[in-house]
Amino acid sequence: MIPFLSLKDVTGLHGEEIREAVRRVVDSGWYLQGAENEKFEQDYSRFIGTEYTIGCANGLDALIWIFRAYIEMGVMQPGDEVIVPANTFIATILAITENGLVPVLCEPRPDTLELDDSLVEALIGPKTKAIALVHLYGRIAYTEKIGALCRKYGLKLIEDNAQAHGCLYSDGRMTGSLGDAAGHSFYPGKNLGALGDGGAVTTSDGELAKTVRALANYGSYKKYVFGYCGRNSRLDEIQAAVLNVKLKYLVEDNLHRKEVANYYYDHLDNPSITLPARLPDAQNAYHLFPILCTRRDELQKYLSDQGVGTIIHYPIPPHKQECYREWNHLSFPVTEQIAAQELSLPIGPSIRMEEVQEVVSLINRF
Ligand SMILES: *Cc1c(COP(=O)(O)O)cnc(C)c1O
Repeated sequence: MIPFLSLKDVTGLHGEEIREAVRRVVDSGWYLQGAENEKFEQDYSRFIGTEYTIGCANGLDALIWIFRAYIEMGVMQPGDEVIVPANTFIATILAITENGLVPVLCEPRPDTLELDDSLVEALIGPKTKAIALVHLYGRIAYTEKIGALCRKYGLKLIEDNAQAHGCLYSDGRMTGSLGDAAGHSFYPGKNLGALGDGGAVTTSDGELAKTVRALANYGSYKKYVFGYCGRNSRLDEIQAAVLNVKLKYLVEDNLHRKEVANYYYDHLDNPSITLPARLPDAQNAYHLFPILCTRRDELQKYLSDQGVGTIIHYPIPPHKQECYREWNHLSFPVTEQIAAQELSLPIGPSIRMEEVQEVVSLINRF
């Protein structure tokens, strides 16, 4: 049995230290907005390269708070448009529509699977206020051209860094610090995962940071003073303590992912599969290892029959979902092709290289 990802094994890599950290919080009697959050916010800001980190309840909320803060700050208003890749996880788009903003879907490139920057300018209109850039699968999605378009048209660049903790752009800056603000998820399966839900916003914009912090704490910027109708969306001390342990090992854990990915790139050899363009190691946090296969469902069943777990990211694109039925008639052929052909192979900080070899030899015999 080779699971897609064993969270038990992932936690086990640093199990003693995590248990010790959780015990410390349990024994402290202080469970919210305490020393663990403070430490995490400092260390994560240093890691990402931003002035501020604001912990919150999950990655979806992190993205919601960024857009909501821009609305409260008067930078955006409901009805404004946000350009977003059509092939993202639904949360990126939910964060836009949740705020009454309008997602403008843009196709990815079939080779990189990331936003096709050559299509963006044609989508920019008088109502466009931002690009929501997703580093999908852990791969760098930022390009010079995207940065230049944001400057030319005065657009905010908001990164969805839920899948890319530890991914660098070619100039050495880390994803999560490339734009005006970034949403991060610490869902257990992510590269930096908690033992439950967690998220954060990173930014170097002081006003945005202050507004996000208030929104995620009932709208309060000062105890019992409420500037906004916010919500309770905080990162709890136990999760922050777990993240404080796991952040120390993130680079090391990602190195193992790179070793796995390089083995896949070097050894997968089957005419019915295509691998996404290979990036320099630093520019891919290898959250997932997507392959494209014209006989995807057959391949998934074959691997499953041999005891290998795989997952499709994602089988139904957002514009084909029931919740966005008004877009169901739209056509995004590249996005739809990825949805029909994508299969994510086992990868993670705890998978053994013998297991990776086994997956490769099974696929090469398919
Ligand atoms: C996981 C994920 C999110 C949402 O994060 P949660 O913590 O699960 O709410 C958002 N965007 C992308 C691309 C994700 O993969």
